[in-house]
Order: sequence, then C-alpha cells, then structure tokens
Amino acid sequence: MSKTRNSKNRSLVIDIIKKAEQPISAENIFNSINSIKKVNLSTIYRILNSLTNQNVVIKQLKQDGIHYYEINDNTHKHNLICDRCHKTIKIENCPLKEFENSIKQKINFDITSHIIEFHGICKNCQK
Ligand SMILES: [Zn+2]
Ligand SMILES: [Zn+2]
Repeated sequence: MSKTRNSKNRSLVIDIIKKAEQPISAENIFNSINSIKKVNLSTIYRILNSLTNQNVVIKQLKQDGIHYYEINDNTHKHNLICDRCHKTIKIENCPLKEFENSIKQKINFDITSHIIEFHGICKNCQK
C-alpha cells in the first residue's frame, strides 16, 4: 500500500472522529468511511492503533465491551454517561486533584492518572 493512500485514510479517520459528537466505535468509523470509499476494517484498526499510540486519539473500553475513540484534546475531563440513550456528557473540571495529593501523602503512592465515569439518566431521558 502506498504511503499517500495510508495518510489519506488516516486523515479521513481523524475527520470522522472529530465530526462525531460522541466517542465513536471502530465499526461506526468503518461504516462512515465506506459510505465514501472502500477501506478494510483491518486497515481502520491499524490506523486507530497508531493514532492511539501517538496520543492523537483516546481509546476507551465501555461497559458494552466495545472500544470507543475520541480526539485527545489534552484536557482532563470526566464523562457522564446516560444509561438510556448512551450519550456522553463531559465535565470540564476535575475535583480529584486534592484527593490525589492526600493519597500521595498518606500512602506514598504516586498517582499518574485516573479514569472515572458517572452513569445516570440525562436531562432528555428524564422527561
Ligand atoms: Zn439520555
Ligand atoms: Zn479527574
């Protein structure tokens, strides 16, 4: 496969992830790309792996057992996930920095990161 074709597919994948308002699965990326042009699912997985390794995208395993991809905008956020419509809402600020510091002092454990997801029912689904 030529290098140019690879980089075209790569930017296509990035575009689709950017346009998706929610974290998107490899299969959905595959479906979106194939409405434009033919690309193998294995090619998409390869692109996604390299984008994940380069920290361009963030890969997250959700409770449904599927990996979802989103653009890494380098800001630390937490997700609220609606149990009914599965929409993801982001909370911009993290309340855990102080808690991390107190763990560090008490247990002498150097925390590098944390992942927290909140599950519930979103505003629309409460109606
Ligand atoms: Zn909802
Ligand atoms: Zn946090």
